[in-house]
Amino acid sequence: MDELVNNLQAAFKKRIAKLDWMSDSSKTRAQEKLAAFLKKIGYPSVWKKYDDVTITRDNLFENMRQVAMHDHKEAVAKIGKPVDKTEWGMTPATVNAYYNPTFNEIVFPAGILQFPFFDLGADDAINYCGIGMVIGHEMTHGFDDQGRQYDAQGNLKDWWTKTDGDKFKAKADGVVAQYNSYVVLDSLHVNGALTLGENLADIGGIAIAYDAFKMTKQGQGTEKIDGFTPDQRFFLGFAQVWKLINRPETMRTCITTDPHSPEEYRVNGPLANFDPFYATFGITEKNKLYRKPAERAKIW
Ligand SMILES: [Zn+2]
Repeated sequence: MDELVNNLQAAFKKRIAKLDWMSDSSKTRAQEKLAAFLKKIGYPSVWKKYDDVTITRDNLFENMRQVAMHDHKEAVAKIGKPVDKTEWGMTPATVNAYYNPTFNEIVFPAGILQFPFFDLGADDAINYCGIGMVIGHEMTHGFDDQGRQYDAQGNLKDWWTKTDGDKFKAKADGVVAQYNSYVVLDSLHVNGALTLGENLADIGGIAIAYDAFKMTKQGQGTEKIDGFTPDQRFFLGFAQVWKLINRPETMRTCITTDPHSPEEYRVNGPLANFDPFYATFGITEKNKLYRKPAERAKIW
């Protein structure tokens, strides 16, 4: 995991250096911020104590009350003390990851370091499109519509030139329009503005993960596994990670409240923008995911 995170960081660094829309001064700030990322992987070095919590098998309400009480006491005890940057916002068992702008940190609990995101026994194509993409995704959150407002130390401070900020917004508006066009249920569309930050992270995440994959031996080779080239495995693996089906009722709720796009569009949205996907599967105007080259969003 350390190696994966470092490779993703190296790939992102190269991509920032090559951006054709960002000025050199903003690039310098962006590189400083990327290099300053605090990385938390697996579990904290200091475990939280829950001595004051008693869990019983037959009283859910009381269990919840005790945990809430513990969390409250913990929060109150922080008042007047310096910020503890070693603290984790998720438990090690959580199947999720996050970027926290005020700490400028990326966090990957042990829970997400397992199949289908990560498998020590799998080939690089599978791990780079799985957990690799999640790592790239979290990294770009430091530079999305919200994260970009914080500097390398996690202070709310605008470090962008006006022109760069405007160019970023224009590119982001294109992504809003792209996702607004996706119809999920009868007349219900994805909300492009609500999901913007997550969509930018998905689009950037797969691009950074692909570059990092191309640094590996398998990524540079042509050896097929189960009849698929390394690049085909990379994209198929990406689609498999997000295989999920919701009831229409759940979907209706998610569309109005969840800042993530529905899983289907977390795959189809980014790939429709990504040139190597077109090359890998020979996508043409005849295919449903096709977007004209000029319409394909490229931000990170
Ligand atoms: Zn995210």
